[in-house]
Amino acid sequence: MHAIRIKPGSKVNLGSIKPSQTDGLDEKAGREIYTKQAAELGELCDLMSAAATHSVLVIVQGMDTAGKDGAIRDVFARVNPAHSRAEAFKVPSTTELAHDFLWRVHQKTPELGQLSMFNRSQYEDVLVVRVHKLVPKSVWRGRYELINAFERNLSMNNTIIVKFFLHISEAEQQERLLDREEDPLKSWKLATGDWLERQHWSEYQKAYEDVLDKCSTDVAPWYVVPADHKWFRNVAMTETMIDVLKPYTKGWRAHLNEQSKMRLAELAEARDQGLVPRNPRKTSKK
Ligand code: ADP
Repeated sequence: MHAIRIKPGSKVNLGSIKPSQTDGLDEKAGREIYTKQAAELGELCDLMSAAATHSVLVIVQGMDTAGKDGAIRDVFARVNPAHSRAEAFKVPSTTELAHDFLWRVHQKTPELGQLSMFNRSQYEDVLVVRVHKLVPKSVWRGRYELINAFERNLSMNNTIIVKFFLHISEAEQQERLLDREEDPLKSWKLATGDWLERQHWSEYQKAYEDVLDKCSTDVAPWYVVPADHKWFRNVAMTETMIDVLKPYTKGWRAHLNEQSKMRLAELAEARDQGLVPRNPRKTSKK
């Protein structure tokens, strides 16, 4: 496993996880593996959608420039857009702020047969909100448990939850911000705020460690993805998605077989009653 699954209740030290690690994989091999895996993930999601007994919620978090948009684009490149949706959570609107913090998120969770990819999420309410003291500690402190209960509720409704933290280094973030200044095709992404947010780097890392410690659960685990190398991030994420979804395939196929049998029986009955024309292929063979 290239992404690191956080055991529930463990103490995470992000400093001990190297953002540039590639587990001995070289870029060429990594890109080839990713290409195959992205296609396999697309097929798994087709099966999930057809069976429609489950939904999939993927949460992507990370510091500015960590590659959240790129990860969603690349990892789910082969997933049928008809059955998937990307959702981005920005600064809350006045209406959103007038509700509890989970209100806007709950409306965007996937229905059965659907995959939703969250670019930022309910976790902003214990990250940016904590670092910038947007609400008192007594309020954000209680949110970890509320988030766990919320995710437990989704899981009880057959939502498969996968949460990725894209782990980049401070040096890599600086490179990516400077690249944006130099490349006219990337400059539109520039935000002065990103340089200001960077000054809170260690507070964010601490806030992320608390999220990973408190909110990695059996039904909604967190995965830390070494993300300094974008190609490695893609391999690690597609691999994790496949490992998570594969165990469900037997059940999904069995469900579809049942459905097929029912449909065929209905059709046979309708034919017997003369409601539907005979199958010319079967008659001609006789
Ligand atoms: P992105 O950086 O994701 O590409 P933006 O530049 O629009 O997109 O940034 C979204 C901003 O919204 C981020 O700075 C993020 O911290 C902020 N944000 C998201 N959710 C909340 C929230 N609940 N409270 C305050 N700020 C939030």
